[in-house]
Amino acid sequence: MLGPGAFLQMMDQSQPAIAKKSSAQGKVEEKVEGKAEGKALGKAPGKTQGKPRPEDLENRLEAIAKHLKPPASVKDLNAALVACRACPLWRHAIQAVGGEGRTDAPLLALVGEQPGDQEDRAGKPFVGRAGKMLDRALEAAGIDRSEVFLTNAVKHFKHELQGNRRLHKRPDRGEVEICRWWVKNELDLVQAKLVVALGVTALQSLSLRKGSLSAVRKETFKTREGRMMRATINPSALSRLPDEADRQAEFARLVADLKAAKKVALALAA
Ligand code: SF4
Repeated sequence: MLGPGAFLQMMDQSQPAIAKKSSAQGKVEEKVEGKAEGKALGKAPGKTQGKPRPEDLENRLEAIAKHLKPPASVKDLNAALVACRACPLWRHAIQAVGGEGRTDAPLLALVGEQPGDQEDRAGKPFVGRAGKMLDRALEAAGIDRSEVFLTNAVKHFKHELQGNRRLHKRPDRGEVEICRWWVKNELDLVQAKLVVALGVTALQSLSLRKGSLSAVRKETFKTREGRMMRATINPSALSRLPDEADRQAEFARLVADLKAAKKVALALAA
């Protein structure tokens, strides 16, 4: 097996092209996590990423699995991540965004959907508007951001252009599945007491639980690999809610979920 260094040489290391010109519970939840998202974005004209063919994904995933020895640290993993070309999402993003934060068995590992515009530019997770919302929620829940591990289910920013703006586009099932290799290895290395999925995409990446986010967000259950996990809403979804009262109600629920997650993590650590 090749180590990460050889893997890097093997892969095309040319920088991905920067996109031109870029340089009420239940009901509310469904709205912010699903249908309303498409509505908010509208049918924007502009470039979209091509859909990966299943056989391409399988071949590329196999290439990674065979040739990349599991890295020894999150730092090594992130070094290998920059060369990932396993699905087409790298083509229009500036860079891959790996996880960061506490990596030595923190109480919590929080997994979002994918980097946004600001994260793609900065190369760091949760630094844009959603990150600020998450910071506020963590503070209200009594959780120190520097004490948790933060990452995303998908490592490259999927978007479509609308004029000069790069608008978020939800990664599809195939893209989430192939990028799972990275988040699985991050979580193996970090060994958090509890993993928290922020939103439906992370929930689908991490677990095989069926049903909506609202059906599972009060429960503690297991990831595909047997880690303990919970789920809550993605902070980015809150900012897309048009109604201020709904936003405040959902923010309060996010804080309550994070407090519950901390309590469960402390119990697991005891
Ligand atoms: S989105 Fe994930 S699988 Fe696809 S190229 Fe980026 S890192 Fe690789």
